[in-house]
Amino acid sequence: MRQRNKPWAPEEIAAHPQYIVPEPSAHRGLWVEYFGNEKPLYVEVGSGKGRFVTGMAEQNPDVNMIGIEKFDSIILTGLERMKELDLPNVVMLKEDVNDINDIFTENEVDRFYINFTDPWPKNRHAKRRLTHEGFLQKYVELLKDGGEIHMKTDNRPLFEYSLQSFSEFGFTLQNISLDLHEDGLEGNVMTEYEEKFSRNGQPIYRLEAVWNDRSGR
Ligand code: SAH
Repeated sequence: MRQRNKPWAPEEIAAHPQYIVPEPSAHRGLWVEYFGNEKPLYVEVGSGKGRFVTGMAEQNPDVNMIGIEKFDSIILTGLERMKELDLPNVVMLKEDVNDINDIFTENEVDRFYINFTDPWPKNRHAKRRLTHEGFLQKYVELLKDGGEIHMKTDNRPLFEYSLQSFSEFGFTLQNISLDLHEDGLEGNVMTEYEEKFSRNGQPIYRLEAVWNDRSGR
């Protein structure tokens, strides 16, 4: 996602701790207390400008949404959206997904979303893909039994890579679509990238990967 230099971003973020939680590791294992309820916890990794997490939170008051985005200047747009909507069930974290196990503990997350993540097309960069087995290992340590990971992308090579990565890891795949907007999905919330790519007529690929502890890891 395009990043513009916004020198005021860190100060603006720090001024709104109710929307962009400072020191999220302090809430590790305690997100139920943070939100004050036991609604399912859905986490989007690489959430960009936060359109998906805020849209999901608005549409689904019975879940708590957390978006993780590592760049100040990008998350700032999410902050504006959260200020406008002022929803009780969504926050964003300015963090690197690599550190996700410092933020959540085991059995804390019901579902992860990975939307239009960077494809890192070169093989030697495969480890940086958010669906690389190194990341899957981190996610399953946090997912509840029966928890899910939902992915959307416009990038066919990344989608094929991810299908294989999830499958080899021991996830069960379901509801795979090679053209989401043609197939339709009830309650689909579009992300920034999804809006842009589907407007250009590009198909959107989607999958759901289900994790059962019985899978053996
Ligand atoms: N999900 C949004 C944005 C997709 S672009 C959408 O669909 O529109 C991918 C985003 O992931 C970028 O904003 C990038 O900064 C973020 N990202 C990539 N790797 C990350 C990481 N390791 N930790 C946190 N954010 C990451």
